[in-house]
Amino acid sequence: MNKSLMETITHNLIAVFIQILCFLYFIFPWNVIFTIIFAFLSHIILDDLSFITYHTPDSMKKDKFWLIWHYIIYALSLFSIVLFVIPYWISILFANIVDLWDWFTLRPIQKRIKRKNPDSKWGDKYYMHQIIDWVRKKLFYWLPNRIYKKSGILIEISIIIVFAILLGLLNVSLFID
Ligand SMILES: [Zn+2]
Repeated sequence: MNKSLMETITHNLIAVFIQILCFLYFIFPWNVIFTIIFAFLSHIILDDLSFITYHTPDSMKKDKFWLIWHYIIYALSLFSIVLFVIPYWISILFANIVDLWDWFTLRPIQKRIKRKNPDSKWGDKYYMHQIIDWVRKKLFYWLPNRIYKKSGILIEISIIIVFAILLGLLNVSLFID
């Protein structure tokens, strides 16, 4: 399976952006419903775009560039969660639910099962990133594969900067009134 992913901070910034717009333009309960739907869809689209960013399928802990980039991006991701989780937890949760399920729930369970039974295929079909691979084949097949190109981080950094500015322009408040 392809390990398609975008970094959590990228998912979070776009999630917050989605929630602000939904709460601005829709009334309850549609604001919540649309936040959930769009946040979820944003994960799929972003992960599909991750093909053109620097995302090596396996960790490369001996590679200095890989290591430094991941220290920075993980720190930023954590910071974005702490900063936005109140009050934007709905969008952040649903923008990351695919990763929470696949990488933090299903995979650890699978690892445990495989320790006892190395041939077990249990769980393979429950990976939600299969949806993302399917959408990529249908809609984003034309994107060049640049997952090993270090310059790919510039694309992700650009997305982060653009959405950080958009949030600034929207006067992102850490409260919902
Ligand atoms: Zn993902």
